[in-house]
Amino acid sequence: MARSQFNSVADYLQIPDGHRDRLLYPKRAITISVPINMDNGEMAVFQGYRVQHHLTLGPTKGGTRFAPNVDIGEVSALAIWMSWKCALAGLPYGGAKGGITVDVNSLSRRELEALSRRYMQEMIPFVGPHIDVMAPDMGTNEQVMAWFMDTYSMYQGRTVNEIVTGKPVSSGGTEGRREATGLGVAHLIFRSMERLQLKPSDSTAVIQGFGNVGSFAAIELARQGVKIIGASDHTSCYFDKRGLDVNAMVEYAARNGSLKGFSNELAFDPAQLLVQPCDILVPAAIERVIDADVAAKLQCRILAEAANGPTTPDADAVLDQRRKEIFVIPDILCNSGGVIVSYFEWVQDLQQLFWGKSEVLTRLRGLLDDAFSRVMERVEKDDISHRTAAMAIGVDKVAKAKATRGLFP
Ligand code: GLU
Repeated sequence: MARSQFNSVADYLQIPDGHRDRLLYPKRAITISVPINMDNGEMAVFQGYRVQHHLTLGPTKGGTRFAPNVDIGEVSALAIWMSWKCALAGLPYGGAKGGITVDVNSLSRRELEALSRRYMQEMIPFVGPHIDVMAPDMGTNEQVMAWFMDTYSMYQGRTVNEIVTGKPVSSGGTEGRREATGLGVAHLIFRSMERLQLKPSDSTAVIQGFGNVGSFAAIELARQGVKIIGASDHTSCYFDKRGLDVNAMVEYAARNGSLKGFSNELAFDPAQLLVQPCDILVPAAIERVIDADVAAKLQCRILAEAANGPTTPDADAVLDQRRKEIFVIPDILCNSGGVIVSYFEWVQDLQQLFWGKSEVLTRLRGLLDDAFSRVMERVEKDDISHRTAAMAIGVDKVAKAKATRGLFP
């Protein structure tokens, strides 16, 4: 997917063949074995990865994913998307992504800590505050980032807050990071609604995925009057035309670890959730949930891609045909609030000067508005899809930086 999206953007930008390979292939792809002692006395070895896509604009930046399907291909695609995302937002980073192939739900807290610490320890030769800065992603959280930071710091003999972002505020994290991605998704939805002249209080939304991103997006949409009629996580799915009680769902998920058992009456077929009539559809879970078949059946007005890579290239072809009906907020724009506030966290850690939440969120909205306007201008100028426009801005920025720096030696 990352390759085929890149190639169509490279065609549009008329990037010569030789330059394409240099832009697309990751600079470094690291595979490690991560051994830990399990609670049952056995030793287990997990596979870990980190892909650093390009080093042209500054350090690489991106999340670390702990999930059963993580492999070097998935991590590479996610790293490439991070590059275009950072460039579109104007951040001085290349993209990176990492992860471990593991089902975190099968680990005890002690095992999770051991795995997190050993992963960071194995990565020490390849990361640094000016080399590669990790962050949370699926299956990781503030606590895992605190263990990463502590492990790196113990090896350096001093506290190095700026080695990872998404840390708890008590350990050098920033105000606003936890909610940043979800708030950013909601902010861009409201910007899109203004363009389409949709009123929040007359609108409905369906949210697939109720983790950090989906839940904060749902809370903010509901707070501003949008009726959330459908929501799901990996365990269960709920639908109610009259509107779901989002705050009760968030509380339930926090208490029980998931939405499983939230309600019997409102349970719904997850395979049908994405294609229900609604104004705003927010896929906030995993990749490739919208294929050509689903794309043809969508009944939304706005598709807000809060997940990374939820829409396949085949689906994109269908959405291109339906451009007048469905307004797509492409993933590298839609979910960029997370890495934008990660950048603010890194800047604050480097300066040891910390901002309040309102300053963080005002700056976040500023960068999102800027990126949104640039994407819309390009769409209108060249009559292209929103994804092509967003990616073209990102790819173009990296291509220009490579061209002006030249090739060493
Ligand atoms: N994992 C998030 C993403 O996919 C955040 C990355 C970061 O904050 O560096 O954008």
